[in-house]
Amino acid sequence: MPDYKAPLREIKFVMDELLEMPKHYASIPAYAEVATPDMVEAIIAEGAKFCEQELAPINRTGDIEGCTRHEDGSVTTPTGFKEAYAKYVEGGWPSLAHEEEHGGQGLPESLGIVMSEMVGTANWSWGMYPGLSHGAMNTIELHGTSEQKETYLTKLVSGEWTGTMCLTEPHCGSDLGILKSKAEANADGSYSISGTKIFISAGEHDMAENIVHIVLARLPGAPEGTKGISLFIVPKFLPNEDGTIGERNAVSCGSIEHKMGIHGNATCVMNFDGAKGWLIGPENKGLNCMFTFMNTARIGTALQGSTAAEASFQGALAYAKDRLAMRSLSGPKAPEKAADPIIVHPDVRRMLLTQKAFSEGGRALVYLAAQQNDIVKKGEDEAERKAADELLGFLTPIAKAFLTEVGCEATNLGVQVFGGHGFIAEWGMEQLVRDTKIATIYEGTTGIQALDLLGRKVLMTQGESLKNFTKIVHKFCQAEEGNEDMAQFVAPLAALNKEWGDLTMKVGMGAMKNRDEVGSASVDYLMYSGYAVLGYLWARMAKVAQDALAAGTTEEDYYKAKIATARFYFTRILPRTKGHAESMLAGADTLMDIAEEHFAF
Ligand SMILES: Cc1cc2nc3c(=O)[nH]c(=O)nc-3n(C[C@H](O)[C@H](O)[C@H](O)COP(=O)(O)OP(=O)(O)OC[C@H]3O[C@@H](n4cnc5c(N)ncnc54)[C@H](O)[C@@H]3O)c2cc1C
Repeated sequence: MPDYKAPLREIKFVMDELLEMPKHYASIPAYAEVATPDMVEAIIAEGAKFCEQELAPINRTGDIEGCTRHEDGSVTTPTGFKEAYAKYVEGGWPSLAHEEEHGGQGLPESLGIVMSEMVGTANWSWGMYPGLSHGAMNTIELHGTSEQKETYLTKLVSGEWTGTMCLTEPHCGSDLGILKSKAEANADGSYSISGTKIFISAGEHDMAENIVHIVLARLPGAPEGTKGISLFIVPKFLPNEDGTIGERNAVSCGSIEHKMGIHGNATCVMNFDGAKGWLIGPENKGLNCMFTFMNTARIGTALQGSTAAEASFQGALAYAKDRLAMRSLSGPKAPEKAADPIIVHPDVRRMLLTQKAFSEGGRALVYLAAQQNDIVKKGEDEAERKAADELLGFLTPIAKAFLTEVGCEATNLGVQVFGGHGFIAEWGMEQLVRDTKIATIYEGTTGIQALDLLGRKVLMTQGESLKNFTKIVHKFCQAEEGNEDMAQFVAPLAALNKEWGDLTMKVGMGAMKNRDEVGSASVDYLMYSGYAVLGYLWARMAKVAQDALAAGTTEEDYYKAKIATARFYFTRILPRTKGHAESMLAGADTLMDIAEEHFAF
């Protein structure tokens, strides 16, 4: 795999030009002083160096070596992981976007996302260790008591300890309402947690001295289903009064999974054998509290889709410029060579541009979501906070499921650009395919995200969340009316924006007669929505580029390429919405008519 190069120009384009982050930071008092343009630039540059020099070199070796569980239940991470984590902690990276009162740097979440992007593109498996800690920190920050914050949050923020998220059990993942882990109250105010959790990322490892598990379990007599689940902090080592680690808790790693990808991340079966834990948040409201964790994690997972597209694109682009095969159909382009580089062939360009469109569009979407998160967390105006929260809620399932699905497509295209060499391990392109697939599964599968979008977010709000977003798109289209250069983007976008509402009405009407219509339409609806959201963002990116060209720029080629990519997206990717529109209206009968026993052959 070619060396990872942080796409700093692209990051700057989205941060400064598309989303106007400097203005955004200046408008939020909590960030105005800390997230100054110089500071932001310095952090991104330092982060890029760390990811390129420390993480990328141990990506492929981490895949080959994987994690090892020893007889005593301890787990060793691949060579170099522990040392890289020590440097990460030394650099103060875990504390970037956390509150100053707990040792954080108080910087915005959206800046943390830029760092997460670079970490994830350089080495996703490694990035999951601090990634899960980040979610644990957010949960304790929002729902923990001041004592819990003092004991656990400060250690997580400093990076001395890491965190996990323990939801899944052998018999349930999507349906947490049927989980069985138990919590029984002890006389001292703590709880005894018993049960088995599976697939726990970073559940056991050698990178930090303590691991803080955030665990879902049921109290005795709790109501059945999701209304009877509580949330607990269960540390691997019980903390002493002075903050040092004390007695080993009764939680251990029973085994680690042998899996398709992300070999450098330990996926653990965790056994809780009466482990001591403490309640976070109110009894039986654990799932509500866990949503904080899950929402952070979902945006983080959405990022995996676009980082996968970026990593695969970087590899495929370098290869396509170098690899020679046949001559261009329109005449030789490199007559001095034995054959032309494959980048001259239209089909290779189709693959590269698809990757580029998803990578750059995905970055824009994830950063936009992170920008809303900044407002939700620190905005001063109640109405703005509410609007940002609604927009974030609407965008989260789309970003998570759509970007990971197209991220998988992009990594497959990366293999294809390499031909046979893509299938061979040494180039690293097949690793990206293997590493990325999980992103469509964990943090809620594509199917579950689609139900969340269409059912909970759209239909249950009588289409309000969709209308809020289509109003934003409509406003953009209206503002560009009469701009001839933008007509190629604005006309199809405006038509799509209207169709989106019409389709929602039709699906909603169908659902009133038969609830299966929701599940039957949902994934097509989600993919349609993803293409539409990216269409809006590509149109905005084209507008930024046109304005830059009109104003006069020394980077003419850069901005022209941006417009060309937008044109590619609108003419060759966006038409996929037609298929999804037709398919989502095909009706539940087309899926449900075959009786279960007739599936067999
Ligand atoms: C490598 C890896 C790392 C993971 N990390 C963690 C972790 O750190 N912490 C943690 O708690 N879990 C973790 N998980 C678990 C992961 O979140 C679950 O696997 C995921 O939520 C799906 O649950 P499941 O495997 O039980 O599948 P199931 O819930 O059994 O789903 C199987 C299929 O049925 C579909 N389905 C289920 N219900 C519906 C429905 N109502 N409508 C439509 N379709 C439906 C799903 O979309 C899916 O396609 C990890 C898993 C893996 C493999």
